[in-house]
This record gives sequence, structure tokens and C-alpha cells, in this order.
Amino acid sequence: MPELLSLRDVSAAYGRIQALSHVSLSVPEGAIVALLGANGAGKSTTLNVISRLVPQSGGEILFRGASIAARASHEVVRAGIAQVPEGREVFREMSVRENLELGAHLRRDARGVAEDVERAFAYFPVLRERYRQRAGTLSGGEQQMLLIARALMARPALLLLDEPSLGLSPLLVQQIFGIIRRINEDGTTILLVEQNVGVALGCSSYAYILENGEIAHHGPSASLAADGAVQNAYLGGH
Ligand code: ATP
Repeated sequence: MPELLSLRDVSAAYGRIQALSHVSLSVPEGAIVALLGANGAGKSTTLNVISRLVPQSGGEILFRGASIAARASHEVVRAGIAQVPEGREVFREMSVRENLELGAHLRRDARGVAEDVERAFAYFPVLRERYRQRAGTLSGGEQQMLLIARALMARPALLLLDEPSLGLSPLLVQQIFGIIRRINEDGTTILLVEQNVGVALGCSSYAYILENGEIAHHGPSASLAADGAVQNAYLGGH
């Protein structure tokens, strides 16, 4: 499969804190690729560098073969990359519908936007039931669904998901990951950051493990899941 996204030797720092050192990874078109590692390993920073929220200090990021180093974050969204940030930052005072429409604010095709609201409701029927409600009144799981739905409103080719399972019950995690798989099967490539290693390896085809800002290990997800030494060394065992 052709590469949709690739990072080559990407580094990033917050002042004197080196958060990423020479990170290289690739995300083939159509895949779900997982990015794993302990707290502070640099997972969120990697997503934030891709979406241009954090500047890189070296290396190259190619999307569809072209460098996005000089792009602003809204240009990256327009090019086809949408991020669901960690934590639940819905616009609490706005309705579910308004939150979804904000996800499409760079688009001018009203009909396409209306179709995509329908598509979001098909993935997340509970949002249709609540669409006039203030987003702040939704449960944690529903807010996570709204964030994913909002990112889909930009019609991304690549979805960056930062810990979608955070703080959710096992049942909700299962439900959300079922939907994430469907979104992928419908044609959206996904780069997934997760602390829930079992779930992440279960739904991805390939995984990278970050340690102290460097890729410590990578391989097909099924091999990493079956490799006890890797599990013990990097993934907290099972
Ligand atoms: P977590 O799961 O806790 O979010 P992570 O793997 O996503 O961890 P990052 O959030 O990318 O890790 O953090 C990587 C390193 O950069 C850590 O040492 C962290 O303390 C530091 N860091 C992250 N964000 C900032 C920031 N805004 N300012 C300064 N340092 C930061």
C-alpha cells in the first residue's frame, strides 16, 4: 500500500526539553497504525507535530509525498489531516449540532456538510438523539464520540486519535473501537495513540513504541502482541 504519511528523523523540543528525537514512522493508506508508549514518551507530541500545533526542530514530514513542514495547522486540516486531541474539549456551551458544524468551518459546501452530519449520526446514533443538547451535558463517552464526529466533519483522509479510550468504561471502549474500525473500513486512515495496549494492538496492523522520545521498537501489531519480551520491556506486561 502506498504511504499516506511518513515521518523521517523528526525531532521536537519544548525549550530545553527534548520531546522527540529522530522519529521515523510511516502510515500506509487505509491502515490503522498504533503509537504506544508510557506517559511522557512523546506520543501526543508526535501527533501535535504532524498537525503543526508543535514545531519540529528537524526532519521531514511527508503527507501524500509532499512536505507539510511549511504548512499552518489549518492548511494541514484542509489537506486532509484531522486530529482528535487528548481529553474532552468539546465546546460545552454549544449544542451538539453547533459542535459538529464547527468541525466543518473550513468547508463551503453546505450540502456536503449536511450529508456529513448525517454520516456522523449514522456512526454515533446517540448524537442524533442529543443534537440540540448542550455538549457539556453529554456523558464522557458521548463527548468522546462528539470529538471523533467533529474531526470527521473535515472529511479527513488521515485521522489522528489521541487516547480515545481515556477514562471510559470497558464496555464503552469496546463500542468506540467498533466504530473506529468502521470509520477505517469506510476509507479513513488512522494513526492511533493509546495507553490501552491490548485494544490498540487488537485493532491496528502495525505499531510503533516510543520511549523517551525515540522509537524503541516497531513491528506488525500481531507480532508485538505475541512478543512477551516486548510486552514486558515497553508495554507494562500483560
Ligand atoms: P501522555 O500519555 O502523558 O500524554 P505522551 O507520550 O503523549 O504522554 P507527550 O505529552 O508528547 O508524551 O510529552 C513528551 C515530553 O514532552 C514529556 O517529557 C512532557 O513532559 C514534555 N511536554 C509535553 N508537552 C509539553 C509542553 N507544552 N511544555 C513543556 N513540555 C512538554
